[in-house]
Amino acid sequence: MKRILVLGGGMGGVEAAIALTQKLKGDYQIDLISNRDFLYIYPASIWLTVGKRTLEDLSVPLTQLAEIHGFNFLQEEVKEVRAKERLVLTTSQEYSYDYLIIALGGSKLKPKGVENTLSICGSPLDGMQIQERFLELVERGEGKIACGFSGNPQDATAVRGGPVFEVLFNFDTYLREKGLRDRFELTFFSPSDAPGKRLGAGGLAQLQQLFQERGITIVSGKKIKEFTSSGVTFEDDTHVVTDLTVFTPGMTGTPILKQSDLPLTAAGFVPVSDTAQVNGFENCYAIGDSSYFEGPDWRARQGHLAEVMARTAAENVARQERGEAATASFREEINLLCIMDTGTEGVFVYRDENREMAPRGAWARWAKLAWEKYYKLNKLGKVPRLL
Ligand SMILES: Cc1cc2nc3c(=O)[nH]c(=O)nc-3n(C[C@H](O)[C@H](O)[C@H](O)COP(=O)(O)OP(=O)(O)OC[C@H]3O[C@@H](n4cnc5c(N)ncnc54)[C@H](O)[C@@H]3O)c2cc1C
Repeated sequence: MKRILVLGGGMGGVEAAIALTQKLKGDYQIDLISNRDFLYIYPASIWLTVGKRTLEDLSVPLTQLAEIHGFNFLQEEVKEVRAKERLVLTTSQEYSYDYLIIALGGSKLKPKGVENTLSICGSPLDGMQIQERFLELVERGEGKIACGFSGNPQDATAVRGGPVFEVLFNFDTYLREKGLRDRFELTFFSPSDAPGKRLGAGGLAQLQQLFQERGITIVSGKKIKEFTSSGVTFEDDTHVVTDLTVFTPGMTGTPILKQSDLPLTAAGFVPVSDTAQVNGFENCYAIGDSSYFEGPDWRARQGHLAEVMARTAAENVARQERGEAATASFREEINLLCIMDTGTEGVFVYRDENREMAPRGAWARWAKLAWEKYYKLNKLGKVPRLL
Protein backbone atom coordinates (compact mmCIF):
# COMPACT_ATOMS: atom_id res chain seq x y z
CA MET A 1 0.00 0.00 0.00
CA LYS A 2 1.35 3.43 -0.89
CA ARG A 3 2.00 5.82 1.97
CA ILE A 4 1.53 9.59 1.96
CA LEU A 5 3.08 11.37 4.91
CA VAL A 6 1.81 14.78 5.98
CA LEU A 7 4.10 16.60 8.43
CA GLY A 8 2.39 19.12 10.72
CA GLY A 9 -1.16 19.19 12.10
CA GLY A 10 -1.84 22.90 11.61
CA MET A 11 -4.14 24.64 9.13
CA GLY A 12 -2.21 23.41 6.08
CA GLY A 13 -1.45 19.86 7.21
CA VAL A 14 -4.99 19.08 8.35
CA GLU A 15 -6.48 20.41 5.11
CA ALA A 16 -3.96 18.35 3.11
CA ALA A 17 -4.80 15.14 4.98
CA ILE A 18 -8.55 15.73 4.52
CA ALA A 19 -8.15 16.55 0.80
CA LEU A 20 -6.02 13.43 0.28
CA THR A 21 -8.73 11.21 1.78
CA GLN A 22 -11.24 12.79 -0.62
CA LYS A 23 -9.12 12.75 -3.77
CA LEU A 24 -7.31 9.40 -3.56
CA LYS A 25 -9.46 6.45 -4.50
CA GLY A 26 -8.20 3.00 -3.56
CA ASP A 27 -5.77 1.63 -1.02
CA TYR A 28 -3.63 4.40 0.40
CA GLN A 29 -2.20 5.00 3.84
CA ILE A 30 -2.39 8.67 4.82
CA ASP A 31 -0.39 9.45 7.97
CA LEU A 32 -0.35 12.88 9.58
CA ILE A 33 2.56 13.40 12.00
CA SER A 34 2.40 16.31 14.42
CA ASN A 35 3.95 17.18 17.77
CA ARG A 36 0.73 18.73 19.15
CA ASP A 37 -2.34 16.54 19.44
CA PHE A 38 -4.68 19.33 18.37
CA LEU A 39 -5.29 21.69 15.47
CA TYR A 40 -4.96 25.24 16.78
CA ILE A 41 -7.16 27.93 15.22
CA TYR A 42 -4.63 30.78 15.20
CA PRO A 43 -6.84 33.42 13.52
CA ALA A 44 -9.28 33.30 16.48
CA SER A 45 -6.52 33.25 19.13
CA ILE A 46 -6.49 37.06 19.28
CA TRP A 47 -9.54 36.74 21.54
CA LEU A 48 -7.61 34.49 23.94
CA THR A 49 -5.52 37.50 24.98
CA VAL A 50 -8.51 39.34 26.45
CA GLY A 51 -9.99 36.25 28.09
CA LYS A 52 -12.78 35.85 25.54
CA ARG A 53 -11.62 32.38 24.45
CA THR A 54 -10.04 29.41 26.22
CA LEU A 55 -7.36 27.15 24.75
CA GLU A 56 -10.06 24.50 24.45
CA ASP A 57 -12.27 26.81 22.36
CA LEU A 58 -9.41 27.23 19.89
CA SER A 59 -8.38 23.59 19.62
CA VAL A 60 -9.71 20.63 17.65
CA PRO A 61 -8.34 17.19 18.68
CA LEU A 62 -6.40 15.58 15.82
CA THR A 63 -7.52 12.07 16.85
CA GLN A 64 -11.12 13.20 16.31
CA LEU A 65 -10.31 14.71 12.90
CA ALA A 66 -8.41 11.57 11.89
CA GLU A 67 -11.36 9.39 12.82
CA ILE A 68 -13.92 11.56 11.03
CA HIS A 69 -11.94 11.89 7.79
CA GLY A 70 -10.14 8.54 7.67
CA PHE A 71 -6.45 9.34 8.03
CA ASN A 72 -3.99 8.21 10.72
CA PHE A 73 -2.66 10.61 13.32
CA LEU A 74 0.76 9.99 14.88
CA GLN A 75 1.84 12.32 17.67
CA GLU A 76 5.58 12.62 17.19
CA GLU A 77 8.31 15.23 16.84
CA VAL A 78 9.82 15.32 13.36
CA LYS A 79 13.57 15.85 13.49
CA GLU A 80 14.82 15.34 9.93
CA VAL A 81 13.64 14.91 6.35
CA ARG A 82 15.84 12.88 3.97
CA ALA A 83 14.06 13.61 0.71
CA LYS A 84 16.62 11.83 -1.49
CA GLU A 85 15.96 8.59 0.43
CA ARG A 86 12.23 9.35 0.88
CA LEU A 87 12.59 9.09 4.64
CA VAL A 88 11.33 11.10 7.60
CA LEU A 89 12.99 10.70 10.99
CA THR A 90 11.10 11.46 14.17
CA THR A 91 12.49 11.29 17.70
CA SER A 92 11.41 7.65 17.93
CA GLN A 93 10.83 6.25 14.41
CA GLU A 94 11.90 6.26 10.79
CA TYR A 95 9.15 6.50 8.15
CA SER A 96 9.49 5.83 4.43
CA TYR A 97 6.99 7.40 2.07
CA ASP A 98 5.79 7.54 -1.52
CA TYR A 99 4.69 11.17 -1.24
CA LEU A 100 5.50 13.79 1.38
CA ILE A 101 3.61 17.00 2.22
CA ILE A 102 5.54 19.35 4.52
CA ALA A 103 3.34 21.67 6.59
CA LEU A 104 5.50 22.30 9.65
CA GLY A 105 4.76 26.03 9.87
CA GLY A 106 7.48 28.59 10.52
CA SER A 107 9.76 29.73 13.29
CA LYS A 108 10.71 33.20 14.57
CA LEU A 109 13.89 35.27 14.61
CA LYS A 110 15.33 35.96 18.06
CA PRO A 111 16.26 39.63 18.45
CA LYS A 112 18.20 40.69 21.54
CA GLY A 113 16.19 40.44 24.73
CA VAL A 114 13.16 38.82 23.05
CA GLU A 115 12.67 36.70 26.19
CA ASN A 116 11.28 39.87 27.79
CA THR A 117 8.37 39.81 25.32
CA LEU A 118 5.42 37.54 24.61
CA SER A 119 4.18 36.65 21.13
CA ILE A 120 0.65 35.98 19.94
CA CYS A 121 2.24 34.12 17.01
CA GLY A 122 4.04 31.55 19.14
CA SER A 123 2.78 28.49 20.96
CA PRO A 124 -0.79 28.48 22.30
CA LEU A 125 0.65 28.77 25.82
CA ASP A 126 2.27 32.10 24.89
CA GLY A 127 -1.22 33.39 24.09
CA MET A 128 -2.37 32.25 27.55
CA GLN A 129 0.54 34.09 29.18
CA ILE A 130 -0.43 37.29 27.38
CA GLN A 131 -3.95 36.88 28.77
CA GLU A 132 -2.64 36.34 32.32
CA ARG A 133 -0.31 39.34 32.20
CA PHE A 134 -2.97 41.58 30.62
CA LEU A 135 -5.64 40.63 33.16
CA GLU A 136 -3.14 41.19 36.02
CA LEU A 137 -2.67 44.75 34.76
CA VAL A 138 -6.43 45.20 34.47
CA GLU A 139 -6.73 44.02 38.08
CA ARG A 140 -4.03 46.53 39.10
CA GLY A 141 -6.03 49.23 37.32
CA GLU A 142 -3.20 50.85 35.33
CA GLY A 143 -0.35 49.98 33.02
CA LYS A 144 1.79 50.54 29.95
CA ILE A 145 1.43 48.08 27.10
CA ALA A 146 3.35 48.05 23.82
CA CYS A 147 2.61 45.77 20.87
CA GLY A 148 4.80 45.50 17.80
CA PHE A 149 6.28 43.39 15.05
CA SER A 150 9.27 43.31 12.76
CA GLY A 151 10.23 41.47 9.57
CA ASN A 152 13.04 39.32 8.24
CA PRO A 153 15.48 41.33 6.06
CA GLN A 154 16.07 38.17 3.97
CA ASP A 155 12.41 37.70 3.02
CA ALA A 156 9.81 40.45 2.70
CA THR A 157 6.98 37.89 3.07
CA ALA A 158 8.27 36.64 6.43
CA VAL A 159 6.34 39.13 8.53
CA ARG A 160 3.09 38.81 10.47
CA GLY A 161 1.57 42.09 11.57
CA GLY A 162 -2.20 41.56 11.35
CA PRO A 163 -2.67 39.72 14.66
CA VAL A 164 -0.56 42.33 16.48
CA PHE A 165 -2.91 45.11 15.36
CA GLU A 166 -5.88 42.99 16.38
CA VAL A 167 -4.49 42.27 19.86
CA LEU A 168 -3.78 45.96 20.44
CA PHE A 169 -7.26 47.06 19.32
CA ASN A 170 -8.87 44.32 21.42
CA PHE A 171 -6.88 45.49 24.49
CA ASP A 172 -8.13 49.02 23.82
CA THR A 173 -11.75 47.88 23.51
CA TYR A 174 -11.54 45.77 26.67
CA LEU A 175 -10.07 48.65 28.69
CA ARG A 176 -12.78 51.02 27.44
CA GLU A 177 -15.47 48.51 28.42
CA LYS A 178 -13.98 48.41 31.94
CA GLY A 179 -13.72 52.21 32.11
CA LEU A 180 -9.93 51.95 32.49
CA ARG A 181 -8.65 53.20 29.15
CA ASP A 182 -7.44 56.58 30.47
CA ARG A 183 -5.25 54.77 33.02
CA PHE A 184 -3.37 52.79 30.38
CA GLU A 185 -0.77 53.83 27.82
CA LEU A 186 -0.99 51.81 24.61
CA THR A 187 1.88 51.98 22.10
CA PHE A 188 2.37 50.35 18.73
CA PHE A 189 5.94 49.95 17.40
CA SER A 190 7.57 48.63 14.25
CA PRO A 191 10.85 49.34 12.42
CA SER A 192 8.86 49.65 9.18
CA ASP A 193 8.18 53.19 7.88
CA ALA A 194 4.64 52.23 6.94
CA PRO A 195 3.61 49.21 9.00
CA GLY A 196 0.60 47.55 7.40
CA LYS A 197 1.35 48.79 3.86
CA ARG A 198 0.91 45.22 2.58
CA LEU A 199 -2.83 45.75 3.21
CA GLY A 200 -2.93 48.33 0.40
CA ALA A 201 -3.67 52.06 0.53
CA GLY A 202 -7.22 51.56 1.87
CA GLY A 203 -6.16 49.13 4.59
CA LEU A 204 -3.30 51.38 5.67
CA ALA A 205 -5.64 54.39 5.88
CA GLN A 206 -8.09 52.38 8.01
CA LEU A 207 -5.27 51.39 10.36
CA GLN A 208 -4.05 54.95 10.78
CA GLN A 209 -7.60 56.10 11.44
CA LEU A 210 -8.08 53.39 14.09
CA PHE A 211 -4.83 54.31 15.85
CA GLN A 212 -5.88 57.94 15.93
CA GLU A 213 -9.44 57.30 17.12
CA ARG A 214 -8.21 55.01 19.88
CA GLY A 215 -5.40 57.28 21.09
CA ILE A 216 -2.65 54.72 20.47
CA THR A 217 0.91 56.10 20.29
CA ILE A 218 2.86 54.98 17.21
CA VAL A 219 6.63 54.48 17.12
CA SER A 220 7.52 53.47 13.56
CA GLY A 221 10.57 53.62 11.29
CA LYS A 222 13.03 53.04 14.14
CA LYS A 223 15.09 49.87 14.39
CA ILE A 224 14.73 47.96 17.65
CA LYS A 225 18.00 47.78 19.60
CA GLU A 226 16.84 45.44 22.33
CA PHE A 227 14.05 44.41 24.65
CA THR A 228 14.61 44.62 28.40
CA SER A 229 12.51 43.86 31.45
CA SER A 230 11.51 47.55 31.48
CA GLY A 231 10.50 47.86 27.82
CA VAL A 232 11.80 48.47 24.30
CA THR A 233 14.98 50.37 23.39
CA PHE A 234 15.33 51.73 19.85
CA GLU A 235 18.46 52.39 17.77
CA ASP A 236 18.49 56.09 18.77
CA ASP A 237 18.51 54.96 22.44
CA THR A 238 14.98 56.17 23.08
CA HIS A 239 13.14 53.79 25.38
CA VAL A 240 9.46 52.96 25.70
CA VAL A 241 8.71 51.81 29.24
CA THR A 242 6.26 48.90 29.39
CA ASP A 243 4.63 46.55 31.86
CA LEU A 244 3.80 44.17 29.02
CA THR A 245 5.47 43.92 25.60
CA VAL A 246 3.71 41.83 22.97
CA PHE A 247 6.05 41.32 20.02
CA THR A 248 6.10 39.19 16.87
CA PRO A 249 9.60 38.91 15.38
CA GLY A 250 10.21 38.28 11.68
CA MET A 251 9.57 34.72 10.55
CA THR A 252 12.12 32.15 9.47
CA GLY A 253 11.95 28.51 8.42
CA THR A 254 11.56 25.85 11.06
CA PRO A 255 14.98 24.55 12.30
CA ILE A 256 14.17 20.93 11.31
CA LEU A 257 14.38 21.93 7.67
CA LYS A 258 17.97 23.09 8.14
CA GLN A 259 18.88 19.54 9.14
CA SER A 260 17.28 18.13 5.99
CA ASP A 261 18.46 17.72 2.40
CA LEU A 262 15.72 19.95 0.99
CA PRO A 263 16.51 23.16 -0.89
CA LEU A 264 16.05 26.23 1.34
CA THR A 265 15.84 29.97 0.73
CA ALA A 266 18.20 32.31 2.62
CA ALA A 267 15.41 32.83 5.18
CA GLY A 268 15.04 29.06 5.66
CA PHE A 269 11.82 28.32 3.74
CA VAL A 270 11.29 25.51 1.20
CA PRO A 271 11.00 26.92 -2.34
CA VAL A 272 8.08 25.48 -4.29
CA SER A 273 6.64 25.87 -7.77
CA ASP A 274 2.99 26.79 -8.49
CA THR A 275 2.11 23.10 -8.11
CA ALA A 276 3.39 23.18 -4.48
CA GLN A 277 6.12 20.69 -5.44
CA VAL A 278 9.50 21.25 -3.84
CA ASN A 279 12.02 22.30 -6.47
CA GLY A 280 13.89 19.17 -7.59
CA PHE A 281 11.66 16.64 -5.73
CA GLU A 282 8.51 15.75 -7.64
CA ASN A 283 7.05 13.53 -4.89
CA CYS A 284 7.64 16.10 -2.17
CA TYR A 285 5.35 19.09 -1.54
CA ALA A 286 5.66 22.02 0.86
CA ILE A 287 2.71 24.21 1.81
CA GLY A 288 1.76 27.11 4.06
CA ASP A 289 4.20 28.87 6.36
CA SER A 290 7.04 26.39 5.66
CA SER A 291 7.09 27.20 1.95
CA TYR A 292 8.30 30.02 -0.26
CA PHE A 293 6.98 30.89 -3.71
CA GLU A 294 7.44 33.81 -6.08
CA GLY A 295 4.55 36.25 -6.37
CA PRO A 296 3.31 39.80 -5.88
CA ASP A 297 5.08 41.96 -3.26
CA TRP A 298 2.01 42.08 -1.02
CA ARG A 299 1.59 38.28 -0.75
CA ALA A 300 1.43 37.06 2.83
CA ARG A 301 1.72 33.81 4.78
CA GLN A 302 -1.92 33.20 5.58
CA GLY A 303 -4.12 30.34 6.69
CA HIS A 304 -6.43 30.41 3.68
CA LEU A 305 -3.43 30.23 1.35
CA ALA A 306 -2.02 27.30 3.35
CA GLU A 307 -5.35 25.55 2.71
CA VAL A 308 -5.35 26.39 -1.01
CA MET A 309 -1.80 25.01 -1.28
CA ALA A 310 -2.88 21.92 0.67
CA ARG A 311 -5.67 21.17 -1.81
CA THR A 312 -3.32 21.82 -4.73
CA ALA A 313 -0.76 19.38 -3.32
CA ALA A 314 -3.42 16.70 -2.68
CA GLU A 315 -4.82 17.13 -6.21
CA ASN A 316 -1.36 16.77 -7.71
CA VAL A 317 -0.62 13.63 -5.70
CA ALA A 318 -3.91 12.19 -7.04
CA ARG A 319 -2.94 13.17 -10.60
CA GLN A 320 0.49 11.60 -10.25
CA GLU A 321 -1.18 8.42 -9.03
CA ARG A 322 -3.45 8.40 -12.09
CA GLY A 323 -0.35 8.70 -14.28
CA GLU A 324 -1.18 12.31 -15.20
CA ALA A 325 1.03 15.38 -15.04
CA ALA A 326 0.95 17.26 -11.70
CA THR A 327 -0.34 20.51 -13.17
CA ALA A 328 -2.83 21.77 -10.56
CA SER A 329 -1.69 25.25 -9.50
CA PHE A 330 -2.47 27.60 -6.61
CA ARG A 331 -1.28 30.65 -8.60
CA GLU A 332 -4.78 31.90 -9.52
CA GLU A 333 -5.84 31.82 -5.88
CA ILE A 334 -3.06 33.98 -4.46
CA ASN A 335 -4.72 36.88 -2.71
CA LEU A 336 -4.57 38.68 0.59
CA LEU A 337 -7.70 38.15 2.64
CA CYS A 338 -8.18 38.95 6.30
CA ILE A 339 -10.58 40.51 8.74
CA MET A 340 -8.85 42.70 11.28
CA ASP A 341 -10.99 42.62 14.39
CA THR A 342 -11.00 45.42 16.96
CA GLY A 343 -13.42 43.96 19.49
CA THR A 344 -16.25 46.25 18.36
CA GLU A 345 -15.94 46.16 14.57
CA GLY A 346 -13.61 44.90 11.86
CA VAL A 347 -11.78 45.89 8.69
CA PHE A 348 -12.30 43.46 5.82
CA VAL A 349 -9.10 43.54 3.75
CA TYR A 350 -8.96 41.98 0.29
CA ARG A 351 -6.23 42.35 -2.29
CA ASP A 352 -5.36 40.58 -5.53
CA GLU A 353 -3.63 41.49 -8.81
CA ASN A 354 -6.60 43.54 -10.01
CA ARG A 355 -8.27 45.11 -7.01
CA GLU A 356 -7.99 46.01 -3.37
CA MET A 357 -10.55 46.98 -0.77
CA ALA A 358 -10.71 47.58 2.97
CA PRO A 359 -14.25 48.43 4.12
CA ARG A 360 -14.86 48.69 7.85
CA GLY A 361 -17.87 47.96 10.04
CA ALA A 362 -19.48 45.84 12.74
CA TRP A 363 -20.54 43.38 10.01
CA ALA A 364 -16.87 42.53 9.39
CA ARG A 365 -16.47 41.51 13.03
CA TRP A 366 -19.57 39.32 12.78
CA ALA A 367 -18.13 37.76 9.64
CA LYS A 368 -14.94 36.83 11.51
CA LEU A 369 -16.93 35.37 14.41
CA ALA A 370 -19.01 33.37 11.92
CA TRP A 371 -15.86 32.16 10.14
CA GLU A 372 -14.48 30.84 13.44
CA LYS A 373 -17.61 28.73 13.98
CA TYR A 374 -17.72 27.61 10.36
CA TYR A 375 -14.04 26.61 10.34
CA LYS A 376 -14.42 24.33 13.34
CA LEU A 377 -17.71 22.78 12.17
CA ASN A 378 -16.36 22.24 8.67
CA LYS A 379 -13.25 20.47 9.94
CA LEU A 380 -15.47 18.29 12.14
CA GLY A 381 -17.44 17.34 9.02
CA LYS A 382 -20.64 19.01 10.26
CA VAL A 383 -20.99 21.61 7.49
CA PRO A 384 -19.72 21.45 3.89
CA ARG A 385 -16.80 23.54 2.66
CA LEU A 386 -18.01 26.93 1.41
CA LEU A 387 -14.78 28.56 0.22
C1 LIG B 1 -2.27 34.95 15.94
C2 LIG B 1 -2.40 34.61 14.48
C3 LIG B 1 -3.49 35.09 13.77
C4 LIG B 1 -3.64 34.79 12.42
N1 LIG B 1 -4.72 35.27 11.75
C5 LIG B 1 -4.91 34.90 10.47
C6 LIG B 1 -6.07 35.32 9.77
O1 LIG B 1 -6.91 36.07 10.31
N2 LIG B 1 -6.24 34.89 8.49
C7 LIG B 1 -5.33 34.08 7.88
O2 LIG B 1 -5.54 33.68 6.72
N3 LIG B 1 -4.21 33.68 8.51
C8 LIG B 1 -3.98 34.07 9.79
N4 LIG B 1 -2.85 33.67 10.44
C9 LIG B 1 -1.85 32.87 9.72
C10 LIG B 1 -2.20 31.39 9.73
O3 LIG B 1 -2.56 30.97 11.02
C11 LIG B 1 -1.00 30.60 9.23
O4 LIG B 1 -0.63 31.09 7.97
C12 LIG B 1 -1.35 29.13 9.15
O5 LIG B 1 -1.61 28.61 10.44
C13 LIG B 1 -0.22 28.36 8.48
O6 LIG B 1 -0.54 27.01 8.46
P1 LIG B 1 0.62 25.92 8.47
O7 LIG B 1 -0.06 24.60 8.44
O8 LIG B 1 1.60 26.24 7.42
O9 LIG B 1 1.37 26.13 9.86
P2 LIG B 1 0.81 25.97 11.34
O10 LIG B 1 -0.64 26.26 11.42
O11 LIG B 1 1.74 26.77 12.19
O12 LIG B 1 1.01 24.43 11.67
C14 LIG B 1 2.27 23.83 11.83
C15 LIG B 1 2.06 22.53 12.58
O13 LIG B 1 3.27 21.78 12.59
C16 LIG B 1 3.50 21.27 13.89
N5 LIG B 1 4.95 21.10 14.04
C17 LIG B 1 5.89 22.07 14.04
N6 LIG B 1 7.12 21.53 14.19
C18 LIG B 1 6.94 20.19 14.28
C19 LIG B 1 7.83 19.08 14.43
N7 LIG B 1 9.15 19.23 14.53
N8 LIG B 1 7.31 17.83 14.48
C20 LIG B 1 5.97 17.64 14.38
N9 LIG B 1 5.09 18.65 14.24
C21 LIG B 1 5.57 19.91 14.18
C22 LIG B 1 2.91 22.34 14.82
O14 LIG B 1 2.59 21.82 16.09
C23 LIG B 1 1.66 22.74 14.05
O15 LIG B 1 0.59 21.90 14.37
C24 LIG B 1 -2.67 33.98 11.78
C25 LIG B 1 -1.57 33.51 12.49
C26 LIG B 1 -1.43 33.81 13.82
C27 LIG B 1 -0.24 33.27 14.57
